[in-house]
Amino acid sequence: MNGTTSPPTLPALSEVLIAGAGPTGLTLAVALTTDGVPCTIIDALPHGANSSRAAVVHARTLEVLHPLNIADPSFSPATRPTSTARRAVRA
Ligand SMILES: Cc1cc2nc3c(=O)[nH]c(=O)nc-3n(C[C@H](O)[C@H](O)[C@H](O)COP(=O)(O)OP(=O)(O)OC[C@H]3O[C@@H](n4cnc5c(N)ncnc54)[C@H](O)[C@@H]3O)c2cc1C
Repeated sequence: MNGTTSPPTLPALSEVLIAGAGPTGLTLAVALTTDGVPCTIIDALPHGANSSRAAVVHARTLEVLHPLNIADPSFSPATRPTSTARRAVRA
C-alpha cells in the first residue's frame, strides 16, 4: 500500500445527483434509497470534517430521522436529558 487511493468511479447514469454529503445530503440519500430511487452523492471535500458537530441532537432532528429508521441505531449510545431548565438571558 503506498497510501494513495484511486478516486471512486461514478455510475454512468443516476436518477438523482445529490451535491453535498453532509447530514442533509445523507438523509436525502437514505430517504430516496428507502423509496427505491437510486441516487449518487458527490462532495467537494475528499473527507468529512473531523470535528464534533453533533454534540447535541435536537428533537426535530430525531423526528426527521425516526421514520427513516436511522435515529435509534445512530443515537442509542447517547445520553438523554432527564430534565429541562429555562434560563433567562438579559440583553
Ligand atoms: C463546530 C460545529 C459544531 C456543531 N455542533 C452541532 C450540534 O451539536 N448539533 C447540531 O444539531 N448541529 C451542530 N452543528 C451544525 C451542523 O453541523 C449543521 O447544521 C449541519 O452540518 C448542516 O448539514 P448540511 O448537510 O445542511 O450542511 P453541511 O454539513 O455543511 O454539508 C454540506 C456538504 O456539501 C458539500 N458541498 C458544498 N458545496 C458543494 C458543491 N458545490 N459541490 C459538492 N459538494 C458541496 C460540503 O463540502 C459539505 O460536505 C455544528 C456545526 C459546527 C460548524
